[in-house]
Amino acid sequence: MSVTPDAALSPSAGRRFRAYTTKHLDELTARAGLAADEQLAVKAVAHVLPFRVNSYVIDELVDWDAAPDDPIYRLVFPQADMLPSDDVARIADLLKAGASRKELNETANKVRAKLNPHPAGQMDLNVPKLGNEEPIPGIQHKYRETVLFFPKQGQTCHAYCTYCFRWAQFVGDADLKFASGEIDQMTEYVRSHPEITSVLFTGGDPMIMGESVISRYIEPLLEIEHLEAIRIGTKALAYWPQRFTTDPDADETLRLFEKVVESGKNLAFMAHFSHPNEMRSELVQEAVRRIRSTGAIIRTQAPLIRTINDDSATWESMWRTHLRHGMVPYYMFVERDTGPQDYFAVPLAEAYEIFREAYQNVSGLARTVRGPSMSATPGKVCVDGVVEVGGEKLFVLHLIQSRDAELVGKPFFAKYDEKAAWLSDLKPALGATHFPWEVASDAGAGELIDPTRL
Ligand SMILES: *Cc1c(COP(=O)(O)O)cnc(C)c1O
Repeated sequence: MSVTPDAALSPSAGRRFRAYTTKHLDELTARAGLAADEQLAVKAVAHVLPFRVNSYVIDELVDWDAAPDDPIYRLVFPQADMLPSDDVARIADLLKAGASRKELNETANKVRAKLNPHPAGQMDLNVPKLGNEEPIPGIQHKYRETVLFFPKQGQTCHAYCTYCFRWAQFVGDADLKFASGEIDQMTEYVRSHPEITSVLFTGGDPMIMGESVISRYIEPLLEIEHLEAIRIGTKALAYWPQRFTTDPDADETLRLFEKVVESGKNLAFMAHFSHPNEMRSELVQEAVRRIRSTGAIIRTQAPLIRTINDDSATWESMWRTHLRHGMVPYYMFVERDTGPQDYFAVPLAEAYEIFREAYQNVSGLARTVRGPSMSATPGKVCVDGVVEVGGEKLFVLHLIQSRDAELVGKPFFAKYDEKAAWLSDLKPALGATHFPWEVASDAGAGELIDPTRL
């Protein structure tokens, strides 16, 4: 293709990593067949929400004959109707008038502020901790046994998903102070907390880091006896499988994975896959083979997104393909309450039907998957079903994961609501005044239990 991308971001021989950003958008949307006014509207959206793709996504993943309806195109390219039309028109007018960057940014920031840029827990990422110590930058002690690591060199991705719940980070709007390069301090926190059995590297995408950087975070952890697993949350398999095949540090990265396994720990590679088409290329299949050959276990997860993967056949096909390639289906998430959630959200009732229809068609080997699951402040809330009790229609739910381990695995109910799309839309049922993680308040509505306990 004729678009000239940005210079390589990672040192590389052969086909280098190339990022395409907003300045390449016109050429790309023209290729998708958009008319001039549609192109302008898409560009307006890309001034509010982050946009970044790369040559692999463009050349191998997007089906340009099917664009703009192609699910992978929709996965990475902003859509004109993702934001309120008057906001889009306002920015489009500024672009047409050749407004200054400052003027554009001010308007974009106003639009962003309306999109709940900091959903629960995102702004106090290093605050919810279980002990009484000072928060450690770069660490979120999420659950008793699990801490999240946010390495400061890992705060971007090989491409951006249009539905990303961390979108605010990528437009410079979020407080990034929680990310850290203080490796000794982060390691020491894990060492001094024997209850921590699992460290989850997240970001951004930790696999954006070269081997020489990520190994500085991982290797010290291998000395810690009580640590059982190191997880890497990443979309690199889908967006840049070269990271594990032909990139200059691909072999060293695999050796690092081997070292983790040899140290007696589980290397859990948490792969974000949104659509079965992401498994089509020979390159990704080879990358999966190579990662698995190190002894790492690849688990797969993704949110359920309207217009991208909102039908059971897509999930069934995805789980079957993952299984075939030796990967373990892990979570189907519900889209979080931030960014263009109105655009992407699938109501919980429908999400549950999609999950069930896909789940009932796959073998027990793929039924390792849990969902639809909301990653919310109290923990992971799973929608188990819809029932009728004494004439009242109800959702049955349970916590898969909770800050308060006592609550895990106990079923609870909420009033059925066909439009409810997030935990905050749900109301307790059968006479209950609050949910299990809340305490009853005088007003009758539940309040979150003392967050220092959670
Ligand atoms: C899912 C999730 C975890 C890990 O939870 P598990 O149920 O142990 O896999 C940690 N942090 C966040 C933000 C999550 O969404």
